[in-house]
Amino acid sequence: MSDPIDRKGLKDRYWERKPLSAMNQREWEALCDGCGKCCLNKLEDEDTGEVALTRIACRLLDDDSCRCAHYENRHQFVPDCIVLKPDNLDTHAYWMPQTCAYRLLWQGDALPDWHPLISGTAQSVHDAGISVRGITLSEFDVPQDEWEEHIIEEPS
Ligand code: SF4
Ligand code: SF4
Repeated sequence: MSDPIDRKGLKDRYWERKPLSAMNQREWEALCDGCGKCCLNKLEDEDTGEVALTRIACRLLDDDSCRCAHYENRHQFVPDCIVLKPDNLDTHAYWMPQTCAYRLLWQGDALPDWHPLISGTAQSVHDAGISVRGITLSEFDVPQDEWEEHIIEEPS
C-alpha cells in the first residue's frame, strides 16, 4: 500500500534531534502515523474529565485507508476538526491516543518501531493492529445517544 503521507527525503530520525516547535510543515505532517484513532468520536465525562473512545468515526474518515477523505478542505465539512500545532499540544494531548506520535514526542517518548518513519511503510501501522481499519462505524449511521454502546479500548 502506498503511503498517503509524503515522508520522502526527510532527514534520518529528525524527530530525535529537532523539537516539535522547530519542525517545518513537512516534518510535522510526517509525524502522523495514519492510525485514524484521533478521528474517532470520544465521550468525555464532564465531572471526571475521563475520555472514552468509541468506534463511531467522523463522517470524513475512510475506514480502509484510515485517512481523512478531504484532509485539505476538511473544515468545509467538519468546521471543528482540530488543527494540531506545537503550541496547542498542551491543550489536546490528554485526549489524544496513547500511541499518537505527537503525544509520544510531546511527553518525551520515542516513536515505536511500527511507525512509518521507522518501518518505511504505512502498512506497518495496520499490521501492528494500531489503526482503526475495519472497526469503525460512521457517525451518519449511529445516533449520538447510542454512541455509549460503542465504547472501545484503544487499539494498541
Ligand atoms: S492519532 Fe495521531 S498519529 Fe494517529 S492519525 Fe491521529 S494525529 Fe495521526
Ligand atoms: S475531518 Fe478529517 S481529520 Fe478531522 S476528524 Fe474528521 S476525518 Fe479526521
